[in-house]
Amino acid sequence: MESKNIKLVITSSRILTSGSIDPSPGTIEINNSGNIVSILPYKASYESYSFLDKTRFHDVGEDVVMPGIVDAHVHLNEPGRTDWEGFETGTKAASAGGVTAIIDMPLNSIPPTTTVDNLKRKIESANGKCWIDVGFYGGIIPGNQDDLVPLIEAGVKGFKCFLIESGVEEFPCVNEQQVRKAYEKLQGTKTIFMFHAEMESEDQKESNKSCEDSNGPMCPSHIYKRFLDSRPKSLEFNAISLVIRVARDFPTVRTHIVHLSAANALDIIRKAKSDGIPLTVETCFHYLCLSAEEIPSGRTDFKCCPPVREDSNREELWKALLDGTIDYVVSDHSPCTADLKFLDKEVGDRDFLKAWGGISTLQFGLPVLWTEARKRGCSYHHLTTWLSKNTSKQVGLNDRKGEIKVGYDADIVIWSPEETFRISTDVIQFKNKVTPYMGKELYGVVKKTIVRGNVVYDVDNGGVANAPCGKLLI
Ligand SMILES: [Zn+2]
Repeated sequence: MESKNIKLVITSSRILTSGSIDPSPGTIEINNSGNIVSILPYKASYESYSFLDKTRFHDVGEDVVMPGIVDAHVHLNEPGRTDWEGFETGTKAASAGGVTAIIDMPLNSIPPTTTVDNLKRKIESANGKCWIDVGFYGGIIPGNQDDLVPLIEAGVKGFKCFLIESGVEEFPCVNEQQVRKAYEKLQGTKTIFMFHAEMESEDQKESNKSCEDSNGPMCPSHIYKRFLDSRPKSLEFNAISLVIRVARDFPTVRTHIVHLSAANALDIIRKAKSDGIPLTVETCFHYLCLSAEEIPSGRTDFKCCPPVREDSNREELWKALLDGTIDYVVSDHSPCTADLKFLDKEVGDRDFLKAWGGISTLQFGLPVLWTEARKRGCSYHHLTTWLSKNTSKQVGLNDRKGEIKVGYDADIVIWSPEETFRISTDVIQFKNKVTPYMGKELYGVVKKTIVRGNVVYDVDNGGVANAPCGKLLI
């Protein structure tokens, strides 16, 4: 057999190729450029590939071979808050979790990605430090509407704004008038306008303030319910109502709701979608896999905004994911140092209201979701649709990523859905070993992760690769 410039071969009895519902036996041939050149419908033996070094022939037995995960919502915080995370630790963690591309959010780095100059600083920080492929979003803040089109030309994959305080002062929220100005600038582009959809009414601001002022025993702030009550579903419902109302006036711009938590907004989302508004919606691993009832007092590692809600809410999110109202699932990996979660303090002193809101999941999204999804009878096809195909499509990478298909990038996760592991600090690759999943036993062990034909993680061969090979997606 000719070598056909093949540099890597993967063969398995369970490969999920593009368009198939169930995995089947197959052999994937990958060329020197990192593209899939052929997919053979049978399991091959090394003898057919003896021109290759043995280390380049991966017979993975019955492990499932799926498209690499494209996580379209991640905060790596570099430059500026590199004690929280960074490109190196963040992308190594991603590689260990089967993630082959991420899109980095514009905030929590300093400066935020709100101008072309700031994007350049981001790119300089990321260069040579990425173990997987990394793209960037821009941010919309008051007064930067003239930076938006230049940012698109410089390669951002979309824009995010807040309708409520973001938690960092360099990324202020916008009001309806500013949102409209930004929409006007974005008309005719193919970009996405993404909303952190929580918005306080004046009444809510007042009631939160009086709650913060009272230190009485009626509402101790280390109890999760106190925090949950301060971010009710109405905040999301109000914001999403506004977003849909404005989006109706700008039908040529794609609108997106990030990290939906409140299920009571699903009906207006369904209506907007059926009216033909180009609206997409994501939710996160934590909203599908955690519930308010199980959060112990003082466990501020479970805090994020919007909050993890009740079990009944979670069931509605699952229905919406399965019926397509929710388009895809992301991590919203948003780490910080342990002291900002007060985890160095006694339980009674860990104030949910003041703790940093963000959950670290980047490395564990696949097993976290699978552990829940397998109980619900979901298929590998569901997983790959939610984690790879739809996220790639959202950020315009679906001509080369998100599916196992001839001509596509060889971005692949190889994993064992039947095996379990327990999350402990020594398996965590991200910088701060803080996660609400600590100690949990999960189904789904990632064995190898491959980015454009490069093995970036191999559980049997030293774990994370020694050198970075990630490209910037700009
Ligand atoms: Zn986020």
